[in-house]
Amino acid sequence: MKELFGKTKSGEEVYKYTIKNGNYSLQVLTYGAAIHSLKVPNKDNELIDVVLGYKTLLEYEKTKTYYGMCVGRIANRIKDAKFILNGIEYNLEKNEGENTLHSGYSSFCFKNWYCEEFVINENPMLKFSIKSYDGEGGFPSNVEVACIYTLTKDGQLVINYEGQCDKDTIMNLTNHSYFNLSGDYSRTILDHQLQLDCDKYVEVDEKAIPTGEILSTNNTAFDFNNFHKIGERINQIPNGYDHTLCFNDFNEQLAKVGEVRCDYSKVSMEIYTTMPSLQLYSGNFISESEINKDGSKGVKYGGICFETQYYPDSPNNEKFPSIKLNANSKYNHATIYKFNIC
Ligand code: BGC
Repeated sequence: MKELFGKTKSGEEVYKYTIKNGNYSLQVLTYGAAIHSLKVPNKDNELIDVVLGYKTLLEYEKTKTYYGMCVGRIANRIKDAKFILNGIEYNLEKNEGENTLHSGYSSFCFKNWYCEEFVINENPMLKFSIKSYDGEGGFPSNVEVACIYTLTKDGQLVINYEGQCDKDTIMNLTNHSYFNLSGDYSRTILDHQLQLDCDKYVEVDEKAIPTGEILSTNNTAFDFNNFHKIGERINQIPNGYDHTLCFNDFNEQLAKVGEVRCDYSKVSMEIYTTMPSLQLYSGNFISESEINKDGSKGVKYGGICFETQYYPDSPNNEKFPSIKLNANSKYNHATIYKFNIC
């Protein structure tokens, strides 16, 4: 189903697509290919919405919190808004001091994507596509990107990303959904229990730029190898979690990397991905000025992001897994969020 959601400041029509499968339903906007709503059953078989979404299109257009959006070409930060590829320096848009966050103002999340609906093996799918030209946002190469959402009857939201380029470039796409498995936007996620298969995390400086060091999570507030409440040790970290945790067994194959559980709703969510890491971001900068789709005000720690991706600032750190995409080769990334009752 397709409905008009609003018009952008420049007059483009933005649509909201809805797909359903069994007890699950998903709404995605053409603007930013943003996940706007994701309904799953709770312990009493009531349908609850487990992601944050803004009330109006204007809020998606001016966002600094990126609710549910598809971020690209490069997720997270690039130091000093520049990188060198094949000996050539590329300069990007500075949108956070001297650095680039989430690819600046030309990010894919600020584009109105083209959407096609499919059903494959009885699973409804939404395929969002965009093109970006050589030099847009400072990045080399024309690229074509698709972000495909599939909803399965057993509660999986599958996100497949596909990309191709005609010159050597870099690519690192992610989804910026804020999950709150209680379904109640007035609650925080501090009581959610989290488990992540991560013995290592990426050290960052005071501007959240990687120092180049990969540290052990052992005996730190980043150790989620066993379940811990997100709020249990969050005060040990200034401003809360906003860090890249590295998966133990990365080999580019789809693998389960963690799980989050909410005792209030008894909803749990497993995370599977082909990516080497995720940005664990506990909604530290959500403020009252963010208006949720039900009209309520945003709450600090009101949602948690599991942004599956390569490490931040990879092009400037040779030791990190490479995000280079060679001319005429394909980019592929899959992430699954699977819902259950725990
Ligand atoms: C970043 C945060 C940022 C948030 C919203 C996350 O991916 O790591 O530092 O505040 O996105 O922009």
